[in-house]
Amino acid sequence: MRGETEVLFHGVRGSAPTSGLAYAEFGGDTPAIEIRAPDARLFLDAGSGVRNAAAAARQGDIDLVLTHYHYDHLIGLPFFEPAWRQIGRLRVWAPVLEDRRPEDVLGAFFRAPYCPVGLSDFKMAAEILAFRPGDTLDVGGGVAVSTMLGAHPGGCAVLRMKTAAGDIVYASDIEAASAREAARLAMFARGADLLIIDSMNDDMTAPHRRGWGHSSWREAACVGAAAGARSIALFHHDPRADDDRLNRIDAEAQAFEPRAFLARQGSRAVLNSRGGGERRSLERRRATDDGDAANQVLSRRR
Ligand SMILES: [Zn+2]
Repeated sequence: MRGETEVLFHGVRGSAPTSGLAYAEFGGDTPAIEIRAPDARLFLDAGSGVRNAAAAARQGDIDLVLTHYHYDHLIGLPFFEPAWRQIGRLRVWAPVLEDRRPEDVLGAFFRAPYCPVGLSDFKMAAEILAFRPGDTLDVGGGVAVSTMLGAHPGGCAVLRMKTAAGDIVYASDIEAASAREAARLAMFARGADLLIIDSMNDDMTAPHRRGWGHSSWREAACVGAAAGARSIALFHHDPRADDDRLNRIDAEAQAFEPRAFLARQGSRAVLNSRGGGERRSLERRRATDDGDAANQVLSRRR
């Protein structure tokens, strides 16, 4: 449908990939988001979850925007199938953080003995485009991406995607503990249809983790509420938090802020804009393995 944009959660776990039956519901792959707009295919971050997008992402032009270079957001990049089988072009938008050139940073990652593929091999498949947080990225396809520097050790880009179906803000790896930073984020996310935001901590862990560059679910929900976001996806889950714990947090967070929910790996959010954007809706659905049109509305939708 024209004006429909899908947001697919391929990886929602923070810091380190996690596996085991106790983590099966929320998933263990690290951050990777896919946005399918009518004329654009956009990926945000290349954590281990980006491998889950491979089958659906082989064709057409693709843009990948990296927010920063911590392992959990980059570890899937050598396994990102479009880089090797791409029929169209792959553009990788990479932030300049602490004045380091993205090519130098990625060159240190794509090199022996850490990786059998060198940066020159990768560049045969992908064009690397540097940006500075604050820049607006022209990814084409009717999608504009504005950016801002977030509070995180080493820096992190916060992204806002403007699509025909609505605005999506991606604020992973941000610490919204201070009133000033929370207000800055709320301003950037003002009126977003979907805010995807770091919520690695809970009330117990947050006080011990100040300066780590992550938020608690409560701090994240408050940013979303202050921004007037229509829906708030809590994201970047603690790698030690199993499904029982995350389900408890999900219930607590929704009681605290009804627009908030915990993102699950393999789920998707669909933004619709009908009648010139007057009637907007957001559905949460379970993703299908082959990436075909979603067919199952999550029963937990509220
Ligand atoms: Zn992270």
